[in-house]
Amino acid sequence: MRSKRIAIIGGGIGGLSAAYYLHGRESEDGHARFECTLFDAASTLGGNARSVYGGEPFRQPFGDLGVNDFNTKTYTLMDDILATLDATCVDGAFPFRVATANLLNTTCWYTPRGQEGPEISYTDADLKEPASPFLERIAEDWHRFAVDGAARVLNHPDHYQDMTVGEFVREQGYSDDFAVYNLYARINGMYFMDDRHPSEMPILGVMSYYSLQEGMLGQSMPDPDRKYFVNGASDWIHRLGAYLAWRGVRFLTGTRPGVDADAGDGARVRWCTARGEESEYFDAVVLAVHADDVGRVVERGLPGGVARVLSSFRYFSSLALWHDDEAVMPPDPEQWRTYNIVIYPEDRYLLRPYTINYVCAMHQGRDVAQPPFVSESPLQGVRRDRVRQVTDPADPDGPAVPAVSWFRHNMVSRQSRQAQQWLHQQQGVNALYYTGGWTQGAGLHQEIMAVSLDIAKRLRGVWREDEANVFLPHRRDQLPLYLRVAAAQYPETRGDMMPEGFV
Ligand SMILES: Cc1cc2nc3c(=O)[nH]c(=O)nc-3n(C[C@H](O)[C@H](O)[C@H](O)COP(=O)(O)OP(=O)(O)OC[C@H]3O[C@@H](n4cnc5c(N)ncnc54)[C@H](O)[C@@H]3O)c2cc1C
Repeated sequence: MRSKRIAIIGGGIGGLSAAYYLHGRESEDGHARFECTLFDAASTLGGNARSVYGGEPFRQPFGDLGVNDFNTKTYTLMDDILATLDATCVDGAFPFRVATANLLNTTCWYTPRGQEGPEISYTDADLKEPASPFLERIAEDWHRFAVDGAARVLNHPDHYQDMTVGEFVREQGYSDDFAVYNLYARINGMYFMDDRHPSEMPILGVMSYYSLQEGMLGQSMPDPDRKYFVNGASDWIHRLGAYLAWRGVRFLTGTRPGVDADAGDGARVRWCTARGEESEYFDAVVLAVHADDVGRVVERGLPGGVARVLSSFRYFSSLALWHDDEAVMPPDPEQWRTYNIVIYPEDRYLLRPYTINYVCAMHQGRDVAQPPFVSESPLQGVRRDRVRQVTDPADPDGPAVPAVSWFRHNMVSRQSRQAQQWLHQQQGVNALYYTGGWTQGAGLHQEIMAVSLDIAKRLRGVWREDEANVFLPHRRDQLPLYLRVAAAQYPETRGDMMPEGFV
């Protein structure tokens, strides 16, 4: 049997999931087996999935600085991978089992301390029993938005293709109070937000995020099954890496390779080591780096169509900290919740596009309203002396360092959604493939895994029935799980939703 050699550049969830779906698997005709080499510039895997540890790595206490939870009802591919790791952990012989548990899925909205204008602070418990006309208006519109907003938009993509959130608010007749003091605040708490006003975000992007992350599928209030990783998101990445190494994936960390895709059928990959430059030939290269890094990695042979697609993605860098500074939290500690969402002042330009603060204990399932907190680009500064000191999992014996990180993440816009459609036509040209947060939707893990699975399917030429819960927009005969659930709930719209050929 022939080996098909695949280079994967980037070891975030894009690259790791590509290795998961490809390595050791056979082509449809049974004549070839895939072998992966994964390169990452950093010394540790995981990219945006990064936890910090107060003591021993992969143990409590910890703070998840980037990715922090998932919804098992909609993250079906992630759930499958977790089940595989669990099943492979035979009699504790391998360290692959990942512990997950329910988080407290509670939220508080508040105007930040020291701000002029109205002081507002309320929790989702307050919305269940609203004690003022203001809260009643918000509760009523929130209910309407949560019950039918996502299904309405996702079932009629042609109508909502170019619509912004603000236009949707007007079309649906939501109150200003709901828009300003709830919906826009929520959108400001989404990691793919940039320096535009939330009302200018594409409604399709926001709703597809809501359907996956919050389980908004239509007809009833969402009931997501949100889990956190008991030993932090880095723990699951660490175990996935160990599992892939056990399966035989070759990891070359601390390397920044260059790709020459003008090298005939495949591509030549070059990288530097202490001994000098090394170079190997691969049958295909999976680029699992950010869109604006693709041009830095591919030195020759980048198809013109891809270059045009890449220019449609924008990135923003946001600060994340693990700390004890109460100044960023709602003024009343009684109201501290798992997620604490800042209501941005309406009368000024925004300084920080994406802001969220959460209570780590609550995020980790305990109803304890006390520090530490994780803040993502906090509106006001966090005191340096309140930032926790942590050990680096890559250097557990090294000195403690402040728990601070900067994440680069892609923004969702109408242009980026359009470019994602074009990208599908470019997959495989010059033996180059693309996966990662920018390649589908908002870049949630489920979306990234769907792209990696699609790449594996193209390379292997095989499609298995149990891989069907996947959103593959270019495949007219496939529907994502959330749309199938919505279709079952709205039988009268089934005909409009089902693409030709879907059964
Ligand atoms: C703050 C935050 C919170 C989030 N929360 C969630 C969540 O709760 N659930 C969810 O599903 N998603 C969440 N996301 C989204 C998701 O985490 C990201 O979209 C996803 O992690 C991106 O994965 P990636 O593999 O594309 O990129 P990354 O994770 O950024 O990985 C890219 C990798 O490429 C490497 N690299 C870069 N350049 C080179 C080079 N030249 N050569 C070799 N290697 C290179 C980097 O070192 C890095 O390891 C969140 C994102 C952010 C920013």
